[in-house]
Amino acid sequence: MGEWVVKSIKMGSIRLDRSAMTHYKGKGEKITVPIWSAGATDGIHKVIVDTGIRDLETYRLAEPGVEQEEDEQIVNAVKKIMGWNPEEVDIVINTHLHCDHSGGNSQFPSAKFYVQQTEWEEAFNPIAPEAPFYDQACFDKSALSYFRWEFLKGDTEILQGLRVITTPGHTRGHQSVLFDTKDGVICVSGDICNVAENVNGNLEPNIIVDVAATYESFKKIRQAAHYILPGHEPAIKNGSDKFIPVNYKLS
Ligand SMILES: [Zn+2]
Repeated sequence: MGEWVVKSIKMGSIRLDRSAMTHYKGKGEKITVPIWSAGATDGIHKVIVDTGIRDLETYRLAEPGVEQEEDEQIVNAVKKIMGWNPEEVDIVINTHLHCDHSGGNSQFPSAKFYVQQTEWEEAFNPIAPEAPFYDQACFDKSALSYFRWEFLKGDTEILQGLRVITTPGHTRGHQSVLFDTKDGVICVSGDICNVAENVNGNLEPNIIVDVAATYESFKKIRQAAHYILPGHEPAIKNGSDKFIPVNYKLS
């Protein structure tokens, strides 16, 4: 008990300028990056972290360069990588409620959902530049009953070997998920780290609402985790349980 197996699950891909994830570094370099979710099990519980996009047309309004294969649609992707049907999933954790991280929430009829209270409040009242990334149909009562949410207030142990830590910066209510595994602690970081270079190079991504909080969150992840699955890291393979080592020596 308390030892988890974590796998990356690809929910689509985005064609973008590299500098969008690395604060102007790499400007002009066009790359295609995955949208990562994760599946995890301790042998008893079935957990999904982030649920990808709701549909291509809606998400293209926020991010024109997005593509999604049929086997990257959430139900197909969870079946392919984890071997689970949607009704078997017990827990869904949203790192944040942007529409490429909460789009498939409505697909899990039996799950309990975990989000930070601050993120929930921001999602219904975003600051102007954030507004295109929040699609209320991904998380409001048309997607799932409010009674199925757990609204968290800070760092929380959800199960043995499964914790969330607050990592504000990309959004004010953002959280990252930590799993104890045989290889050490794995952080599923959502978008506080788009790519490993953010946390390992101390380099902010472009879409952030709070610069100082972002760097504090990087430090918190470096202190807490041995490996990281960033939200859009291209160096990780689909279905892999091998992630990027964290440069925890960086202060
Ligand atoms: Zn985001």
